[in-house]
This record gives sequence, structure tokens and C-alpha cells, in this order.
Amino acid sequence: MSTNDTSAYNDFHLQFIAGEWQKGKDDSINTNTNPYNGDTLVEIQQATKDQLNEAYDAATQAQEAWAAQTPAERSAVLYKVVNILDQRQEEIVDWLIKESGSTRIKAMVEFGATRAITLEAATFPNRVHGEIRPSNTPGKENFIYREPIGIVAVISPWNFPLHLTQRSIAPALALGNAVVLKPASDTPVTGGLLLAKVFEEAGLPKGLLNVVVGSGSEIGDAIVEHKAPSLVSFTGSTSVGKHIGELANGGEYIKQVALELGGNSPFVVLKDADIEQAVKAAAFGKFLHQGQICIAINRVIVEDEIYDDFVERFLAHVKTLNVGDPNKPDTAVGPIINEKQLKSLKDKIAQAQEEGAKMALSGEIEGQVVPPHVFTEVTREMDLSCNEVFGPLVGIIRAKDEEDALSIANDSMYGLSSAVFTADMQKGLRFARGIRAGMTHINDISVNDESNTPFGGEKNSGIGRFNGEWVLEEFTRTHWISMQNEPRQYPF
Ligand code: NAD
Repeated sequence: MSTNDTSAYNDFHLQFIAGEWQKGKDDSINTNTNPYNGDTLVEIQQATKDQLNEAYDAATQAQEAWAAQTPAERSAVLYKVVNILDQRQEEIVDWLIKESGSTRIKAMVEFGATRAITLEAATFPNRVHGEIRPSNTPGKENFIYREPIGIVAVISPWNFPLHLTQRSIAPALALGNAVVLKPASDTPVTGGLLLAKVFEEAGLPKGLLNVVVGSGSEIGDAIVEHKAPSLVSFTGSTSVGKHIGELANGGEYIKQVALELGGNSPFVVLKDADIEQAVKAAAFGKFLHQGQICIAINRVIVEDEIYDDFVERFLAHVKTLNVGDPNKPDTAVGPIINEKQLKSLKDKIAQAQEEGAKMALSGEIEGQVVPPHVFTEVTREMDLSCNEVFGPLVGIIRAKDEEDALSIANDSMYGLSSAVFTADMQKGLRFARGIRAGMTHINDISVNDESNTPFGGEKNSGIGRFNGEWVLEEFTRTHWISMQNEPRQYPF
């Protein structure tokens, strides 16, 4: 295949292992459905552990020759991937809508982020550099090399499947590694198989990217425990991430882990803020992709003096949002990914009311579409405040003053993203620096991702950073090599 190939990507029932499209050999089938209308999109025979081993063997065989290619050759493949993404933008956006329930707006955001990280990764081969460090030993020179880490296992989630997969595999491949990827069961196409087609079309040598679609019970642990990967790059929930971390470091082979986990982003509105702008930001940062984003606004915290005004204007704005068919260009809130998530949201709505929150806005749930639910007079102890919601429900918390707002913002096990609104930038900066999180945005939403800035969290939100130099370090290994140029005097 070449970049001139214009045939549509519509057959995704096979696995991509060792550069070949092959049938899964497990008895189980992944039935991939459209979360909005329930249509079956594709049925995929799942992979067995033997097929996973085959993928690791292929990756191991292919990696060294790939690492030995010139930086320009590796960059060229990534640039071709960018071209193919551009040529196929419409069909990729279409897949994001029908497979992951993305609204058209979200699918375009996701496409843009995917393109940006691919372009950034294309520059990585020429940005890897070592160092020469002085030595306190006479006659010695110290060289620090940066080498590919080898084989990278990638496990990705369903919410931003294309981007959250690509932000691991594009840098990994650009830096001379090989990849074995397990996409989420709800999004095997946009989280993996579609990207395999793109890289194949771009001419990536066989074996470097393997996509294994399988059930968690058959291959979930095996992908982490296998001796081949030196790094496990996992994006998903904190509970599964903890399990992956234990597996990666408690088994026979110790390996590095990059864990991008759950969040509970505070969105703080201080009393001097532009309330109208804060209202619009809160609605977009909360309801984009139905709130199913790790960095979505999870807690809105508003200073007492402006609380009632903010709530009134927020409710008025949220009532104007279009809810329903994700394919319509002006739909703001589409379907929830699956029934399990839907059930957890119904439970959360019931629990919020039981705990005494006031349901200021609700609506009828139709199929898997949940209209925005807004709760006021929420306190920091309630479930809505303590846990990640991952849906279009939001609680608004009243803070006594700035100090109280910061204390509430930091009262969380998570530390991924955050945001603060104020007219005073110095105050905003001081407040932002007081937040224990990997990312804080002043006068903007918590949902931000740029390919050249560090993305990641602390506390139960994970370990490691994506993008720019940070992922470049993460996906390479450091090797200190010293050279003793004259005989050294040893004490004995
Ligand atoms: P999840 O943890 O249920 O699944 C993530 C991936 O892990 C999927 O591919 C799944 O099949 C796989 N998996 C599940 N059990 C496994 C096991 N035992 N061994 C190996 N793999 C296993 O998460 P999800 O529901 O897909 O995604 C939602 C969660 O992800 C939310 O908590 C969200 O905050 C988080 N998330 C974090 C980021 C981030 O960058 N920090 C980004 C997106 C999503």
C-alpha cells in the first residue's frame, strides 16, 4: 500500500500481528457497537495468548533494524502518517463518531490532537541527544547515550481512543522502539486497528506495530507480564492502573511503567472573575464528550459572593446545549460509551440526591444519552466531589473565600488537571502554584493538551508525562558509558 491508496478503511475484523492481518484464534468475539443507536459495526474474533506471544516475537525481531535506520528515515514514516491522517480525516472522524460516541465537535478536537502529536513525534528522531559529563577520575570521559527502550506495551482507553493511543505509539515508534498495543474493548478500531492501517499505508516495516484485540481475562495480564516489554504505557482508570503497576513490578521481570490515570479536576471561580466567560468555560470543559475525559471539569468551586449569580447563569447556558445525535454538527452532548458506565451515572444521580445535593437541572435519559445534570449546594464530602464522575453530571461547591477554594481544590486523591478563573493574573498564578496537580490553566478549562507541553498528573492520577521532551525521555533509556583513556591507579 502507499499514500496514494484511496480505498476506504472499513474492514476491521482482523488482528494486526507481525505485519499481517490475521484472524483471532480465541473462541470469544468482540462485538463492536455504535453507542448511540446500538448498530453492530464489526465483529472481531479475539486474540489468544499465543497470538500475543507472536506479536511480541515479531516486535523483538523487527526493533533493532528499525532503531538502526537513520533518523530521517524514521521521521519520513511519521510525516507520511500525518499526510494519510489528513487525506482520511473525514472517514476517521466518522469512525470516532460511530464507535466512541464522539460528538462531531469532540471528534474534530481529537483528530487535531492526534495530528499534532504525530507531527511532534516526527521531529523526535533528530531531537534525541546524549551528553558528555566531566569526571573526577583522572583520564576518564563520561558519555551519556539515549537509546530506544526496546519494546513498549501500550494499553489505551476508549474515551479519546485515537489520540490516547497515538500519543504513545507515535513517539515510541519515532524513537526506534517496537510496539504491542491492546486497545480498549469498546474502541478496537479507533483505538488501534485504524492506526495500524495508517502506519501500514505509510510504509512502517512489518512487526513494529502489533494490534492485539483480546479480552482482559485472556491477554490483559499477559501483555504486562511478558518478558519482552521494557516499558508499559497504560492510560486508563486508577484501579486498573494500580493493578498494572503491581504486575509490572511484582512479577519475574521488572519493567518501567507510565501510568496516566483518573482525575478529579477542580474548576475554581474566584469572586473577581469574568462570570460570563467562566460559565461558558465550565459548560464546555464539563460537557465535552459527555464529561468522559480524564481532565474534564469534575468539581466546580465558586466563591460565596458570586455563587448564586454563577449558578443562575450556568443553568441558563447549559439549558441551551443540544443533546442527542452525535453526528449533528451542533450536538454538544452525545451518548455514554456503554451500559456499565450508564448504570454508574444513574447510581451517582441517586446518590447525590440521597446525600442532600440539590438537583437544579436534569432531564430524561433516552437510550444511552444522558442530558446534563447540575447539582448545587454540593459539599466536599459528597461522592460527586470525591470521585471521578465520567459523565455529564456536575456538582457546584460553595467556597467561603480564596483560601477555602484552594483547600477544597486540593482535597482530592487525584492531581491531574485543574483551572482557576480570576481577573487578577498574579492572584491566578499564586493560586495555580498552590494546586497539587500536574496541570493548571488560568482563565481556561482544565481540558488542554498541547503536543509540546508536559501532560500528566500526580497522586492517584499517575506517573510520567506525555508530549515534547518529557515523552522523549520516557520512551528512551539512558546509558552511561565511561572511557578510561589512561591507566587508572587502584588502591589495591
Ligand atoms: P479502564 O482502566 O477500564 O481500561 C483501560 C484499558 O485497560 C483498556 O484497554 C482495558 O481493556 C484495559 N484493561 C482492563 N483491565 C485490564 C487488565 N487487568 N490488564 C490489562 N489491561 C486491562 O479505563 P477506561 O474505562 O477505558 O477509561 C476511563 C478511565 O481512564 C478514566 O478513569 C479516565 O480518567 C482514565 N483516563 C486517563 C487519562 C489520562 O491521561 N490520565 C486519559 C483518558 C482516560
